[in-house]
Amino acid sequence: MDVRDLQRENIKNLSPYSTARDEFKGQASVYLDANENSFGSPLPADYNRYPDPLQLDLKDAISKIKGVPIENTFLGNGSDEAIDLLFRAFCNPGKDNVIILPPTYGMYEVSANINDVEVRKVNLTPDFQLDLENIAETIDANTKIIFICSPNNPTGNSLNRGDIETILANFKGLVVIDEAYINFAKQKTFIQELTEYANLVILQTFSKAWGLAALRLGMAFSSTHVIDILNKVKPPYNINQATQDLALAALQNIQQVNEWIKITVNERERLANALSRLEKVRKVYPSDANFILVQIDHAHWTYHQLVDQGIIVRDRSKVVLCDDCLRITIGTTEENNQLLTALEKL
Ligand code: PMP
Repeated sequence: MDVRDLQRENIKNLSPYSTARDEFKGQASVYLDANENSFGSPLPADYNRYPDPLQLDLKDAISKIKGVPIENTFLGNGSDEAIDLLFRAFCNPGKDNVIILPPTYGMYEVSANINDVEVRKVNLTPDFQLDLENIAETIDANTKIIFICSPNNPTGNSLNRGDIETILANFKGLVVIDEAYINFAKQKTFIQELTEYANLVILQTFSKAWGLAALRLGMAFSSTHVIDILNKVKPPYNINQATQDLALAALQNIQQVNEWIKITVNERERLANALSRLEKVRKVYPSDANFILVQIDHAHWTYHQLVDQGIIVRDRSKVVLCDDCLRITIGTTEENNQLLTALEKL
């Protein structure tokens, strides 16, 4: 099957929005085509000009680090934009459905609802792994996307690679693997599988390990067919120039990022051990991410006690399979110690 057949009918015949500037590729010296301010910007950069809609310099730098050709790379205003565009390009409103695997990242369902796309939920198993049998039974002819988050938010664990491969081998719609937390994981990325499966989409982000959540920059890696479709439906200037410039600069500093990843993983293990020694803590779930899911007595009450002391964690106690659980981001050593001291005193 051709993965292009998955796109919505009305998208098939669309041409991407094109600007006069696409044709001249920076060769001109006088730009009077885009109704910009020709005098300049009040800031010390050429912010009076629209950004490169193709984001070529940034994609080129990302490609060198990830080993993915630029024609297989899409950049979004956060991976959240890529998620939304996947719905808009591939899911017919009021007709198609997607499968999500709770407990999982909330935006898949939010985007589905905004786009009037049915959400079918197949809960993870009690040990937070894929329920392959139920997934297989839930798929029908209108199932366009399965969202797999690995490492999974909020549980923190990676999903079994063999199970994900089973889905890739059998499902004909898009398989989206959200690897937002992959930099903290022992499990390897699925990037190497891209050449094998035209329907595989991998999401990664600059918001976690790279420390650039405020810039809003996410990546989707996939076959050229899928990337071409995403490029057709994206707003032309979805990655602003400040983000393109700053992310490019950040990519020169990978050593710093790797150092933070190492510290985060060490702190994760230290925090997990310290938490598991607290009497009120019932379970510390193993984590491959930069947060830990913890089951604790009176979770909701504990959450509010921590808030009163100026410490904010995420209350997940009402989330399916997460009874009495808090999701705790790994902070600096000092922040983690503050959290532990506060919990000990409760
Ligand atoms: N995927 C997962 C699993 C996440 O947890 C998050 C953010 N919490 C995102 C995607 C969104 O990332 P971005 O900031 O790139 O939109």
